[in-house]
Amino acid sequence: MKLVFATNNPHKLQEVSDILKEKVDIISLNDIHCHEDIPETADTLEGNALLKAEYIYNNYHLNCFADDTGLEIEALNNEPGVYSARYAGTDKNPEANMMKVLQQLENQSNRKARFRTVIALIMDGKTYLFEGIVNGTITKVKQGNAGFGYDPIFMPEGYEHTFAELGEEIKNNISHRAIAIKKLCDFLNSI
Ligand code: IMP
Repeated sequence: MKLVFATNNPHKLQEVSDILKEKVDIISLNDIHCHEDIPETADTLEGNALLKAEYIYNNYHLNCFADDTGLEIEALNNEPGVYSARYAGTDKNPEANMMKVLQQLENQSNRKARFRTVIALIMDGKTYLFEGIVNGTITKVKQGNAGFGYDPIFMPEGYEHTFAELGEEIKNNISHRAIAIKKLCDFLNSI
């Protein structure tokens, strides 16, 4: 089975291709020569995942899925959430984003957070949504170099290390995206 994954993020493409490799041939936006900026203007993760999947389905007529992820921090009313990429500014700088989170949580004892991923799949005109959540805490300082985004400051529940310290193999087994992708995978196996 072939599916377009509507992302420009090479880390995600690798992560998802690794998880789905036995079931699905993942086709990238590059493979279909899609170089446009796909709109991400909704104010929910669900809305953005749908916008991206619909854009590909409507313009390229290919079965596809798209994801949107947010870091939801309890003490910040679930911010940055859908605005995670642009939390510290439109240049989407991960270092600045992490610094902003650490500053906002200075002197805050509640450091609970979760990553939430929503995947929207469009197959033969039908739409399906899958959600993956991983709970954890925000560390006081950055720890580790692997991964991307907020990985150096996110410690998943049950672990003593951040995603950036745990590395890709462990992260790919337990992450929000892995959980959502496994649900997608189970669904694809069931049809
Ligand atoms: P996206 O819209 O799904 O690309 O995710 C929005 C933002 O959330 C990204 O720019 C990252 O800052 C952050 N993010 C998404 N997934 C992860 C992850 O697995 N680890 C760390 N940060 C992530």
